[in-house]
Formats: sequence, structure tokens, C-alpha cells
Amino acid sequence: MSLFCGTACRRKSFLCYRLLSTFVTKTRYLFELKEDDDACKKAQQTGAFYLFHSLAPLLQKSEHQYLAPKHSLLELERLLGKLGQDTQRIEDSVLIGCSEQQEAWFALDLGLNSSSSINASLQKSEMEKELKGSFIELRKALFQLNVKDASLLSTAQALLHWHGAHQFCSRSGQPTKKNMAGSKRMCPSNEIIYYPQMAPVVITLVSDGTRCLLARQSSFPKGMYSALAGFCDIDPGELERIRSSSLVQL
Ligand SMILES: [Zn+2]
Repeated sequence: MSLFCGTACRRKSFLCYRLLSTFVTKTRYLFELKEDDDACKKAQQTGAFYLFHSLAPLLQKSEHQYLAPKHSLLELERLLGKLGQDTQRIEDSVLIGCSEQQEAWFALDLGLNSSSSINASLQKSEMEKELKGSFIELRKALFQLNVKDASLLSTAQALLHWHGAHQFCSRSGQPTKKNMAGSKRMCPSNEIIYYPQMAPVVITLVSDGTRCLLARQSSFPKGMYSALAGFCDIDPGELERIRSSSLVQL
């Protein structure tokens, strides 16, 4: 019995170590790509791209679920060429993660006006036909995606949205420029660097032990419910006071 327990514990420790080791390796690799534009551009050669149109991801329907197709750089260049678009807009893509084998994953919105391209929005239906999929609002498709894709596409959508909303410097009004990975934007005239904001969120699920309080809107897809949530407005500096009081209690 103790031999069995010892073996199980060693196996568990090994798995934990392996998970941690993989996480650290991936984090280091992503950090390198965020800091080094040349390394990031190189990673695009062997990477994969998730496509969006006006923040709606490209999805393919497979029975009762959605799949998020990935495209190689070559496929993407071919598609843009076929649609008569400038391949330069690939530089608008943002890094969203990588596989254990260090295949870098990027997201590109083909529906937003690009700062690095003179092309206007591509024709959505034409692209859907070429890509054999549909651009679907993420919230509506979220529960029909697997956990990995749902998480990755949510990250991608948030980052693409942030870039769309931070095209200009708030100090000088000049256009900002993103780095290759899209982990930051810089104003060339006064060198202010902008980073995507983190928005800490807490959601509370009301439960009586066996049941949860849920609600749904008539616009929700069938079977989709939501925990009741709201926003708590805090004064500037309040968060700092909360942090300080937590530190005192510790
Ligand atoms: Zn500026």
C-alpha cells in the first residue's frame, strides 16, 4: 500500500513539475516574442492565425459545436492576394498565445480599418465564402466552443478591441504604433508607451447549496443563462486603500 502511495505521489509530483515547466517555457517564449520584433516576425512564418471581422471570430459549424479554424501565414497571404488586398495588413495581427511546441498563435481582424494599410474593410461575405466559415458574435458562440478556443478567442477579442480603441496618443493626438506582437503601442512623437489595461473583475454566484440563481435575456441563444452580475463603482484611490488595509490585516 505504501509502495503504491509513494509511486502515486511521485507521479503526481512529476506531472506538477511537467505542467509548471511547460508553463514557464511557454511564458518565456511569449515574453521573448513580445520584446523582440524580429523574433515575432519570424514566429509568424511558422505560426497560426485566428481571423476576426469587426471583432467577430471566424468559426466553422461542426454538428452541435463551433470550431475555430487556424490559418498559416501562407494561406493568409494567398487569401488576401485573392481578394486583391494588401498583405501588409498582416502586421496588424496580435500575439495571443502559443502551443507547447512553440507554435505562435496570432489574431487578425480583417474588418477593421487598418492604420498600416490603405485598404478599407474587406467584404465580409466574400471572405466567409473563401474561408468556408462565418464571422459570428463571440458571446453567442462561446458555449459551443471548447474551453481552449473560448479562452483564446476571448483574449484575442479583448486585445484587438484595445488596439482599435488606442490608435491615437492621448497626450499629443498623434497616431500610435503597435509593436510586432501587439503587447504595447507607442507614440513616436513623445515616446509614451501604452499597455493593454487589466480590469480586475469579481463575479458572485448566488446559491442555496444545490441551486444557483440564474437569469437569461430573450436575445440569448437557447440554453444560455447568466449569473446575475453588476458593477461596483469605486472612487479613485479606493482600490489602493483596499490594498493597504489588506496588507495591514495580513
Ligand atoms: Zn504622443
